[in-house]
Amino acid sequence: MHHRTALVVILLSISAEYAWRGGEAARAALADTLTTHTVSADRAAVPLGFSPQSYAAEARWEKRFLEIPSGGRCRKYLRRLTRQPHVAGTPGDRAVTQFIYDEFKRSGLNPEIVEYRVLLSYPKKISVELVEQARVKLSNPEPEIRGDRDTRPSDPMVAMPWTGYAPSADLTRPVVYVNYGTAEDYGQLEKLGVSVKGKIALARYFHGYRGGKALEAERRGVAGIIVYSDPAEDGAQRGPVYPDGPWGPLGHFQRGAVVYDFVTPGDPLTPGWASTESARRLPESEAAILPKIPMVPLSAVDAQEILKRLDGPDAPKGWSGGLPLAYRVGGEAVKVHLALEMENRVTPIWNVIAKIPGSVEPEKLVILGNHHDAWVYGAVDPSSGTATMLETARALGQLLKEGFRPRRTIVLGNWDAEEYTLTGSTEWGEQFEADLRKHAVVCLNVDASASGQDFSVSAVPSLVPALIEATQAVRDPASGRSVYDRWKEQKAARSVRSYAVPGSVAAPVPFGLLGGGSDYMVFLQHAGVPALDMIFDGPYGVYHSLYDDFRWMDRFGDPGFRYHAAMSRLWGLLALRFANADLLPLDYSIYGGEIAAYLDGLEKIAPPDFFAQTIRPLIEKSREWQRAAGRATRALDALRAGDAVAALGEPRDEPSQAAATASFNAALMAQERALLDGRGIPGRPWFRHLIYAPLPSYDAETLPGLREALEAKDLARAREQAAALAAALDRALQALPAGVKASR
Ligand SMILES: [Zn+2]
Repeated sequence: MHHRTALVVILLSISAEYAWRGGEAARAALADTLTTHTVSADRAAVPLGFSPQSYAAEARWEKRFLEIPSGGRCRKYLRRLTRQPHVAGTPGDRAVTQFIYDEFKRSGLNPEIVEYRVLLSYPKKISVELVEQARVKLSNPEPEIRGDRDTRPSDPMVAMPWTGYAPSADLTRPVVYVNYGTAEDYGQLEKLGVSVKGKIALARYFHGYRGGKALEAERRGVAGIIVYSDPAEDGAQRGPVYPDGPWGPLGHFQRGAVVYDFVTPGDPLTPGWASTESARRLPESEAAILPKIPMVPLSAVDAQEILKRLDGPDAPKGWSGGLPLAYRVGGEAVKVHLALEMENRVTPIWNVIAKIPGSVEPEKLVILGNHHDAWVYGAVDPSSGTATMLETARALGQLLKEGFRPRRTIVLGNWDAEEYTLTGSTEWGEQFEADLRKHAVVCLNVDASASGQDFSVSAVPSLVPALIEATQAVRDPASGRSVYDRWKEQKAARSVRSYAVPGSVAAPVPFGLLGGGSDYMVFLQHAGVPALDMIFDGPYGVYHSLYDDFRWMDRFGDPGFRYHAAMSRLWGLLALRFANADLLPLDYSIYGGEIAAYLDGLEKIAPPDFFAQTIRPLIEKSREWQRAAGRATRALDALRAGDAVAALGEPRDEPSQAAATASFNAALMAQERALLDGRGIPGRPWFRHLIYAPLPSYDAETLPGLREALEAKDLARAREQAAALAAALDRALQALPAGVKASR
């Protein structure tokens, strides 16, 4: 759903957080991590979680698996997936669902289609018109591109600029330009003495998810909001535009949902429970996450008609975009007529789920997630990920034919209606929550898989070591070196959170934190399952537009589809390792230090007394967890060095060895769960994870409950949230493997 708008911002926000702590503190924290994590290089040959003996068998399957994924196949899959628009709940979406089901079957898997009935939204009529100063129709379709027949669509819905869940409306109001429409931007307008009350706000895209822009506008008394794609952000100012390059042409516009899923994701009518056939449903008027004011997206061509006529003060510094005009704030003379006829209806959506049953621990679930619904063709978002999932399924199916059986169950979850409110994954997660909390090992999410060559990942800290080892085993197609080798070079370009890991060269790699905007949310933030979200990123200016199509991908995104295939290798390799390792390759020794760093950052917003008395002890506790979990990581290292006795105590026979393994794994799985609080974050009970939640912008918010209480200067609530966090850290400590805990 969100990759360009959110992931990059997450990375930036983390670097900002790091900047608070100062370069020195950051380097010290990193050095601390490095000393506890650097072991001799020869052990790296055996990945985390395996012994040399067990890895001998695994290595043969891994080698075989890595041979299979093919760029040519991914290209064929993508051509099929992008043949027709497939907005969730439409006939095109149903056809794509069937194609995925059939391909899973052809690969030898045993898929099922899981249906939910959810509230979706579609446009019937969209009209935006300049009515004063001049009469100009502004809701124009995206122009056809010569040589790309997919840009001449027959579906009338594709011609309309619309956002999902915008309410119907008919109003004529003056327009105010509000820059990105953030709280700071509205603050600037106040200083200029420009009122937005009852007016139409014209905002440019970027610097936050459109739902956050709508909520901010609603709070300010704005009557309606227009969002447009300025060439400074994703168009000509960045580079050549489609069809000559990957950036957005002036005529493209960005569709998307406008909904408050950072408050509660999933079907707006069933917050917190599954939208099965017979489920209880709220009346639409009680659905808290639906926006109250209308929103329409416009192209830069159409927005320019408004912008060039605006009166009022000059736009403040930093507010001018890439159009050849003097940006002004407006507010009086220019009026726009918005007329939206939208239809909300409860309608079926279809997840496709395939399970490869585990042979030893069939109840344990290693989940691979992707969605298949798109705003138009969605060649990048999400069809690249879907093509990659189909190729991964084919390769796993081939292994099954050759006799492979995973130790744990591998689940391929292909979700529907992600673009609305992460709907398909959320409903499924809510329906099977109890099972997931007990048995889900990890959620490996790939929304879009490739729009370029830069490996980019957001993850909980405990997954980073396994991820680094897997990227060391997969070749980067362009350079011929490993994905890891190219990934670690990015640290110079973007300073973000970074770690080294056991057995690898001690070079850190950048990764983002999980906020919002894709299907990992229900797993991590509701059920406490460790999660990651990854992509090969690149210049991509056609997000959620008509031009995110097959030809764009074939020419610019991933010519040859080599990065689709590389992602299939990486994704499958991670799945194999999590499914087959003796001990789960979860390393919690980084996490405590990470939390301590977030807590440290609260010094900026907490009163000094509160920081000293309440937050300092939490930092101590985080460090204690870090040290204790470090001993569990050393047990993992002992195992891969061939010392099962050091890893698991002294199992004398097979049954006791199996019992020791099971209890160690249960302890590791309990770690992420321990960070949940069943009461949720105040005001957002669906979000139970005390360390990570999404902001309205979709950025990751660390320590959401505690941070929000401090920001609201509500010290009583902050004290409660600190106590909840202390209890969570205690639970994590208590749940560590027995031997590890005793030796602390
Ligand atoms: Zn997506």
